[in-house]
Amino acid sequence: MLSFDPEKVSLPAGHYIGGQHCQSQGAAFEVKRPSDGSVYATLQDATPQDVDRAVTVAHQALKTSGWSGCPPRERGRVLRRWADLIEQDTLLAQLEALGSTRPISDVVLHEIPFTAEAIRFYAECADKFSGDLFPTRDSSLGMLIAEPYGVIAAITPWNFPLSMASWKCGPALAAGNAVVLKPSELTPFSTVRMAELAIQAGLPAGVLNIVQGSGAVTGSALVTHPLVRKVSFTGSTVTGKRIMSDAAQHGMKPVTLELGGKSPQLVFDDAGDLEVLAQRILRGFTANGGQACVAGTRLIVQRNIADPLVERLAQLCRELKPGVTWQEESRYAPLIDERQGNKVCSVIAAAKAQGAEVLVGGERFAHTGDGWFWQPTLLSHVAQDNPAVQQEIFGPVLTVQTFDDEEQGLAMAAHDTYGLCAGVHTLSLPRAMRAMRAIDAGTVWINRYGRSGDFIIPTGGFLGSGIGKDLGRQAFQACQRQKSVLIDF
Ligand code: NAD
Repeated sequence: MLSFDPEKVSLPAGHYIGGQHCQSQGAAFEVKRPSDGSVYATLQDATPQDVDRAVTVAHQALKTSGWSGCPPRERGRVLRRWADLIEQDTLLAQLEALGSTRPISDVVLHEIPFTAEAIRFYAECADKFSGDLFPTRDSSLGMLIAEPYGVIAAITPWNFPLSMASWKCGPALAAGNAVVLKPSELTPFSTVRMAELAIQAGLPAGVLNIVQGSGAVTGSALVTHPLVRKVSFTGSTVTGKRIMSDAAQHGMKPVTLELGGKSPQLVFDDAGDLEVLAQRILRGFTANGGQACVAGTRLIVQRNIADPLVERLAQLCRELKPGVTWQEESRYAPLIDERQGNKVCSVIAAAKAQGAEVLVGGERFAHTGDGWFWQPTLLSHVAQDNPAVQQEIFGPVLTVQTFDDEEQGLAMAAHDTYGLCAGVHTLSLPRAMRAMRAIDAGTVWINRYGRSGDFIIPTGGFLGSGIGKDLGRQAFQACQRQKSVLIDF
């Protein structure tokens, strides 16, 4: 039985620095449950002084604990134990379901295993990648040595708190760094529990610290702290630009930026079974209530199959039913909060003002109390410059555009701002390959939509969707800096 009583989940306190929970004197903020909008906790922003303490503790912990210098396999052992604890911890799953938009069965079946497996992947990386040796004169030796940066700042969004934390902490810790992580102020608790489990698994206290608070106060103090040597961020494109600028001004720090998206699902008339396609496209834009950076929110479909496909999609949309995240049978996620609800509302209104027609949905579900459950929404009659095509809505809203030939379809798939990912649906290999080459996106899925559990495949955006990669060995190597050495002997 996975259902639980939301009033009976014990919350870990505040910030977690040096293996200790601590409070702060920063401005108070309320934390609400997305499913019913009720306030379930009040926390304080970590002030710049708190952030300074967290970063200093992390810096000292690296010096005293030997984490950077220990045999890499030892780091791998700790990370594997951490992954095991993550999978076994009921409280962690409940905290995630309580505070985020993920229903408990989704957390237990997907989010937790996904988080644990990502950490195991980086446990394996710890001793698999080394530097290089260069051909030089016989009397000298040229080498490239990979070493950890030191303290890495990780900043995560609210839509997948646990897995985002694992994508940041896994490679950074495996490579021998310390981490100070700031989760979203909307979803603060599961990450603290995750850090407690890391210390239980044998990570030296202080090597992973969590600070809570707003981006403007806590996040900004973290990015600009002089002892932070690299920033790994996942969130919106607007914040990513700000962070890149702050990191440049305060120490020329390297950044990994995983940002927003507005991804196309390009469906050709030779894509096969319409039922399979409709189910795939539905999942692509409604998973987590559409609050996924990779959400496939632009359906671009060849005209001669558009009507039956869209009709079936509309039926499937009507079948999705909302449910609070602490009930085992709930499948359909709420929006994170009222602000996000208002944003979805306002983009749909702007889209309609520019000619869009609502085929299904377009409103908040009735009778769901103060939770913001949004009806899966299909919008047709949208030109390329319609706000619903241009803006990342971050809700379950799919625009529908039709095309006649490949060239036109590919032109519609292009986006001025974003290049995170794309789905191409066709059983023609030459067409799939042409589309894959033409599309300006960091990930192209062919005849599927969404990530797999293959953590070896990196992910990251082009254009306004970001810089650098999470996952894969690329993320591990991005947590190391390369030192060139030349020895004369
Ligand atoms: P956001 O940019 O508002 O906030 C993300 C994090 O940044 C939060 O922890 C926030 O407190 C912090 N932050 C805000 N301002 C800051 C500042 N000036 N300095 C430092 N930190 C600051 O994003 P969000 O609304 O939490 O998340 C949704 C966004 O995240 C969407 O755009 C989505 O596409 C994106 N996202 C991208 C990926 C990816 O892999 N590309 C994955 C998940 C989410």
